[in-house]
Amino acid sequence: MTSVDRLEPCGLYIHIPFCLRKCSYCDFVSYRISSYDTARYCSAVVREMQLVLGSSRRISVADDGLLSQASIEGLRPTTVYIGGGTPTVLPVEQLGALITSIWRVVVPHQDYSECDIEFTVEANPETLSEEYLSELRRLGVNRLSIGLQSTMDKYLSMLGRPHSFDEFVKSYRLAVQSGFHNISVDLIYGLPGQTLEEWREDLSRVVELTPSHISCYALTLSDGTALSEEVRSFRLPEPQEDLVADMYHDTVSVLTESGYCHYEISNFAAPGMECKHNMNYWLNGYYVGLGVAAHAHLRGVRYANTAEVERYINRVEAGIFMPEHVEAVSPARELSDSFILGLRTARGVNLKELAERFGEAPVAELAGRLERFVDIGLVESSEGQIRLTEQGMILSNEIMAEVL
Ligand code: SF4
Repeated sequence: MTSVDRLEPCGLYIHIPFCLRKCSYCDFVSYRISSYDTARYCSAVVREMQLVLGSSRRISVADDGLLSQASIEGLRPTTVYIGGGTPTVLPVEQLGALITSIWRVVVPHQDYSECDIEFTVEANPETLSEEYLSELRRLGVNRLSIGLQSTMDKYLSMLGRPHSFDEFVKSYRLAVQSGFHNISVDLIYGLPGQTLEEWREDLSRVVELTPSHISCYALTLSDGTALSEEVRSFRLPEPQEDLVADMYHDTVSVLTESGYCHYEISNFAAPGMECKHNMNYWLNGYYVGLGVAAHAHLRGVRYANTAEVERYINRVEAGIFMPEHVEAVSPARELSDSFILGLRTARGVNLKELAERFGEAPVAELAGRLERFVDIGLVESSEGQIRLTEQGMILSNEIMAEVL
C-alpha cells in the first residue's frame, strides 16, 4: 500500500465532450449531445477513473517503458476540473452520479465537505436552472466557470452561442443565490467587427457583476470552423492585430484597476481566487485526464486519450486503459516545459528553483536565450526571477517559439 508521505499531488481533469450544438469558432473536442448515449459515456469515465486512480489501480496495457504501473502509483488529486464541451448539458442525475464517484475516489476516507479541494465545473448559461445549480452545490462543487464570451447579443449570435446576455445574467445571479462564491466568467475579444469601445463595455458589464475570476482570450480563427470560413470568404472582417493588442492592454488596465490580479496571460482573479487547477498546469505539475481527448502529465510521461467517443467507451468497457498518444518526457523537456508554462504567469520562472531541479548549466543556457528580449522590453529579469512584461505577454507565442 502506498504510504501517505509518498503521495504526490496532481490535478484531475474530466472531459465531457457534449454540447447543445457547435459554436461557430469552436475547435474543441465537442459533439452534439443528441447523437450520444451520455449515460454510457459517464459510466466509462468512472471505469477509467477506477483503473487510473482507484484503490486497485491497474494499467492493463503492456509496460512499454513509457507508461507503466509506476506512472500512476501514489498520485493524490488536489483539484478537480470537469470541462468540455458543456458538462452541464448532461442531465443532472448523470453529472451528479459522476461527481459522487469522483469524490469517492479523490477522498475515500473523508467527508468531501471537510476537505479543501477546489472542484470546478464548466457551464454554459442556457443549461443552468435553480435546481441544477443547487444540486451542484449540494454535491460539493465549489467553483463554476461560465462561458459568456460577449455581453452583446449580435456577437453571441455571430459566435453561434445558444444564449443571450440577459440569460447569462440570470444564470449568474442564480449561481450566486445557490451559494457559489467562486465563479469564473470567460470572455473573448478580437471578434470580427468588434470595436475597442464595445470590448470596454463587455469588460465593464462583467466587472459590475463582481465575479471572483475573469478569463479573457483573444479569438483564434481555427481552420475548419464556420467562423474562420466566414472571415476567409470576406463575409466578415478579419480582426486587426493592432486593435487586438489595444484590446489586450485595455483588458489589463480595466481589470487591474477594478481590483483583479493579472496572474496569467489571459487570467485575472480577485485576491486569493486564482484557479488552483490551472496554476498546477502552469507550474508544470502532474495531472490525470479522464474521458475522450483528455491529456495527462505523470512522472516522465505525457499521454492523451482518443478523441473518438465510441472507441474510448469500447476500450474502457473492455477494461483496457490504453491512451492513444504516449510520449516520454526527458528532463530537458521538463525544463523547457517549466520555462514555457511558467512564463505565462505573472510570477514568471525562478531560476534558482529550476537550477535545483535541473542543474545550473541548462537553466542558464535557456535564460540566456531570453536576454535579447530583455533588451527590447519584452522580458524582465531581476533577482533570479524572469517574467514577461505586459508587451511580452501579447507577443508570448513569438517569444516562446524563438526561445525553444
Ligand atoms: S460551448 Fe464551448 S465546447 Fe461547446 S461548442 Fe461552444 S465553444 Fe465548443
